Amino acid sequence: MNLDVKWHAGSPSPRADTAPPIQVHAYADDTWILRQNKAIHYEAPFMFLLAGESRCLLLDTGATASAEYFPLRATVDSLIGDRPLVVAHTHGHGDHVAADAQFADRPDTVVVGRGRDEVASFFGLDWPASGIFDLGDRVLDLIPGPGHHEAAVVFYDRRTELLFTGDTILPGRLIIDVWDDYVATIDRVLAFCETHPVSHVLGCHVEMSRERGDMYPIGSAYQPDERPLQMAVDDIRAIRAALDVVDGAHGVHVVDDVIIFHLSVHVH
Ligand SMILES: [Zn+2]
Repeated sequence: MNLDVKWHAGSPSPRADTAPPIQVHAYADDTWILRQNKAIHYEAPFMFLLAGESRCLLLDTGATASAEYFPLRATVDSLIGDRPLVVAHTHGHGDHVAADAQFADRPDTVVVGRGRDEVASFFGLDWPASGIFDLGDRVLDLIPGPGHHEAAVVFYDRRTELLFTGDTILPGRLIIDVWDDYVATIDRVLAFCETHPVSHVLGCHVEMSRERGDMYPIGSAYQPDERPLQMAVDDIRAIRAALDVVDGAHGVHVVDDVIIFHLSVHVH
């Protein structure tokens, strides 16, 4: 298992970018981290593919629908062949679900809906209580995580001890839609981390540079000095402390290395 990867962080001239539309990193022989090229969409979301004995799980489908510009289905098929697949989402915002339709006609494939009821029903969750999902000899814990998005879920893979936190926890803007839900989610995730070993915390975007508290402008297609994707449980503790400082106030708050967007209008 390794995160020894140099993520492609865009290009000063995106039209001349020659990198592939999707960067694939094999974290392990059954675990892949994918990133959409910023030249295709500035959001450059990360996606995650996990293989179990009986089925695979794809978390998120990126920011672009077109298979011509963003061949996610072909990329996934090149990694797992025709094995059964569940396509689910860290949350239902547009830059995480755009290529869902590429999987609509894939055999032995389920695309989970984006709403809270659909997510809870498919995974058998008694929201917001945690649940489990078994890929076949590979058990995941699912922690409902509303606050950034009402149907957000944090996934924990017992095999790799990776924690997938979507846009709820990431090296970038923490965009809080419902404050109390978000605080409760961070508390729930931290409580989980107290009793489970976590190798890395993986969000779905990198928006910050290596300088503490510094964010690239929204819409950046080139981030030459971006920080690594992975975070640690201590970073979640820092977020929890920053929430206490901000205490629900609206606005943009930079608390040391934590950037909180709590706006009165809804932002995706
Ligand atoms: Zn996002």
